[in-house]
Amino acid sequence: MTTQASENMGSRGGLGVKITGGLPTQRYFTPAGEEIFAVPSMREFQQKDENGKIVRSGTRDGNLDKGWTMTMPEVLKFKCPCKQFHDTQEAVDVCVSKRAIESAKWETRAQKEINATSSASETRIDDLEKDVKGMSEGIEAIKKALGIE
Ligand SMILES: [Zn+2]
Repeated sequence: MTTQASENMGSRGGLGVKITGGLPTQRYFTPAGEEIFAVPSMREFQQKDENGKIVRSGTRDGNLDKGWTMTMPEVLKFKCPCKQFHDTQEAVDVCVSKRAIESAKWETRAQKEINATSSASETRIDDLEKDVKGMSEGIEAIKKALGIE
């Protein structure tokens, strides 16, 4: 390593940006108080009035839209398998059982549809069999009439 290069490395540390082999990350907290390091998702935004005139513009961090905060939340929420955060553990339990009921309903509905489809195709096969039987009976009758049995 040259003296020049090591000087550069040293000066980079003075910028106050944490660089760990990738993009600098920012510390966030989820509503449940979990610590997350993520690359800020800066987005430009424009706020227009009804005439289309820009009244406000700037950048905001899209990560904050996920409910993440820069400081530890004072009131912690509960993380739910639905990927949302609920105010109480009871609300999480209710959500989980609601979702279980919903998915059971879906399964029942899907199973009913499968059954309906297969019984419909069974009916169709029955009809075809009747048709074929009718046709061969017809042929027999023609043969008989023509005396070529
Ligand atoms: Zn939930």
